[in-house]
Amino acid sequence: MTTPTPILTAALDAAGRGWPVFMLGRSKRPVANCEDCPKDAHDPATCGHLTCHGFYAATTDPARLAAIVNAVPGGQLAVRTGAVSGLAVIDVDPAHGGDASLSELMTAGLVPRTLHVHTGSGGLHLYYRHPGHELPSRPMPNRAGIDFKADGGYVVLPPSLHHRTHLPYRWGTAADHVEEMPPALITACLPAPTPAELHPHPTTAAATTPGGGISHPDKLLSAHLDAVRHAPKGKRRTTLYGAARGVARMVAAGAIDRTDAITALTDAGHRAAQTPRDIQAAITGGFRDEGIAAA
Ligand SMILES: [Zn+2]
Ligand SMILES: [Zn+2]
Repeated sequence: MTTPTPILTAALDAAGRGWPVFMLGRSKRPVANCEDCPKDAHDPATCGHLTCHGFYAATTDPARLAAIVNAVPGGQLAVRTGAVSGLAVIDVDPAHGGDASLSELMTAGLVPRTLHVHTGSGGLHLYYRHPGHELPSRPMPNRAGIDFKADGGYVVLPPSLHHRTHLPYRWGTAADHVEEMPPALITACLPAPTPAELHPHPTTAAATTPGGGISHPDKLLSAHLDAVRHAPKGKRRTTLYGAARGVARMVAAGAIDRTDAITALTDAGHRAAQTPRDIQAAITGGFRDEGIAAA
């Protein structure tokens, strides 16, 4: 047997902790589905293909992990967060004000010292124990630059290289223990009250297969965003909501990263002259109504 690569060693180590892991492509997006999967509608959770359906491919099985890592050379190793791994991660993004928000959280005693990762882009992932009841992944309310990754989410693991900086993700050395989430932190991560009811708007079915699979994620994303761009003035808000639902389904299928999806939708909303509040409400509602990691 040949020496395992650093990524495989890390994958096996994570699996040994009971964390299901999978591989992202070099671009930090889930690996594209195979040619066959889009042909028939099926349950991504039981598909069984090594690298299809994004995080649904995550496993703790050593032999399977070796095959997955081997199938995506140069990719990033990622761990599913949420009840499935028992992990809930505070994701601090300094490029969007995360450092200041983290200081506030520390001052308020919400983020006790715990196992953490320094990301390849200067950010921080704080690992906590998932409390056991459902906690969706979402941007943390009122805390700029902080994402909360739990059910429906994933984070990149060391020693993966960041897709833009090419710097490695590294384990922090100060704490090796995954702490419980303080109750106040759980509360701070819970979804805000739901926004006003909006009505779904049918989106373009381009780039989907008859079975509802996604054959061309880029084209499908463009179709959703174009619908917003071309919507008449009075219909833009509901069209954005409809687009958010469509894009949420793409996130659920692992065809696009959730953060990228929200960025693209937010941008489309701004171009359609929607207020930040309406944009947030449309995206949050669309994601929630598709039953996935709410935005
Ligand atoms: Zn497949
Ligand atoms: Zn499949």
